[in-house]
Amino acid sequence: MSTSWPCKATSESALTPAKETAVAAVVEKPVHYIIQNLERTYGVPENQRISDPLYMLIQIILSQATSDINSHRAFTQLKKRFPTWDAVLRAREATLAAAIRSGGLANQKAAVIRNLLRQIKERHGSIDLSFLHNMPTEEAAQYLAQFRGIGPKTIACTLLFACRKEIFPLDTHIFRTLRRVGLIPRKCTDERAHDIMNQLVPKGKFYSLHVNLVRHGRTLCRPRDPQCTNCPIVEYCDYGQTVI
Ligand code: SF4
Repeated sequence: MSTSWPCKATSESALTPAKETAVAAVVEKPVHYIIQNLERTYGVPENQRISDPLYMLIQIILSQATSDINSHRAFTQLKKRFPTWDAVLRAREATLAAAIRSGGLANQKAAVIRNLLRQIKERHGSIDLSFLHNMPTEEAAQYLAQFRGIGPKTIACTLLFACRKEIFPLDTHIFRTLRRVGLIPRKCTDERAHDIMNQLVPKGKFYSLHVNLVRHGRTLCRPRDPQCTNCPIVEYCDYGQTVI
């Protein structure tokens, strides 16, 4: 995964410093107001919990392509069936898949989880990712990107939610809204979209913008029939400006 970070100047930029500042102002101003307007509407969410990154990572893997209820059930079953991560690693893949069946895609997720645990054990001698708390964000993201089946959204969610790092995950709601607003291109890879947002989001606002865009995508900026006339960010939205 290639990862870019907030306020990082691009080395290939041909702009003068003054023009760079002007461009940055144009790019960042709407983001600032978008964040502000979303916070006025949905509140200012804060992530006050620091948690175990490996637990978080496994929960996120289990949550892929299923509901919160089903993934929570799968994680509860996993913990009930296996008392330690070593026990998960020793289990046969079919046994692990049976334990997480309620979360869907059980065979696929079992393979990803076992592969992840095996590689962590091989590299560190124990199955533990708590060292990520003390790693710089970019280094931590690059570390997680080495594992098969762990993509940019999973990496960013793990580091944002468990370690409170400054990194922006995009889920399906956020992709939809940001495309409509015009902050990310219509055609854009996951990696590129994450890079763009990691550059645009101001320090201290990663968690708030992520949570509020999910709320916004579920309530107003829905897949069908977006409620643009009631939208708090319509004045900054390319799509919204064409329909109101
Ligand atoms: S104006 Fe419409 S399309 Fe744009 S963000 Fe708001 S609800 Fe979504």
